[in-house]
Amino acid sequence: MKLHLFSSGSILAWKHLLVRGAPEGIRITVPVPFYLIEHNGEFVLFDTGQQVPDKEFPADAPFIPQVSPEDRAVVQLKKYGIEPGMIKYIVLSHHHSDHSQGLPDFPGVPCIVRKEELKYPYMRALKEQESDREWIHPEELFDLFGDDVADCIPTPGHTLGHQSLRLVTDDCRIVLLTADAAYTDAALEQFPPEKEKDLPYWRTIGMFRKFRNDGAQIITGHDPDSWKELQKQYN
Ligand SMILES: [Zn+2]
Repeated sequence: MKLHLFSSGSILAWKHLLVRGAPEGIRITVPVPFYLIEHNGEFVLFDTGQQVPDKEFPADAPFIPQVSPEDRAVVQLKKYGIEPGMIKYIVLSHHHSDHSQGLPDFPGVPCIVRKEELKYPYMRALKEQESDREWIHPEELFDLFGDDVADCIPTPGHTLGHQSLRLVTDDCRIVLLTADAAYTDAALEQFPPEKEKDLPYWRTIGMFRKFRNDGAQIITGHDPDSWKELQKQYN
């Protein structure tokens, strides 16, 4: 199993929305990752990135996407030698646009979304638009290659049907791609105020901490600081 990291442009965000205790009024630029998992000549895409916005965002918007046509996942993957038809599955961590907007660029690729995510109108509308596609809605763990080197695992909290990927590298390391179940590395330590009473969120964070304590590498969803190092490690 090999992991390849990409970012479909970036998002300009208020720092205090991502990191507890950060002062208000500070902007940070965060990556919008999508991941290619390669194993025995097969490819799986985890999340599909964002599209070029079709509207202007106000300067004080909480999140402002910054995407050029070349930043789209499908364009970056083609440059990398991967055509949409070569992809076995697309796994969406959850329905939010920075993770799911690129899906229509990959027609015919089966898409894995947890059943609970269909409780959101946006997810149901996307499935309706993409009704020719095969949809898979696991309720528990889903083994992507049949040999447990890449499993979708339920990580509810950020959304009801959020899922993450648990990977085993060729050198036998465990790597967790959390997506937005943990926005940044600091989220593994900090309590976002709006999540204080959110038990599924904390169970998920607790699971990530346990993996980390057991030696796994935890790759969080939008961490600007660790991103550069991760790209050096995996690309
Ligand atoms: Zn996100």
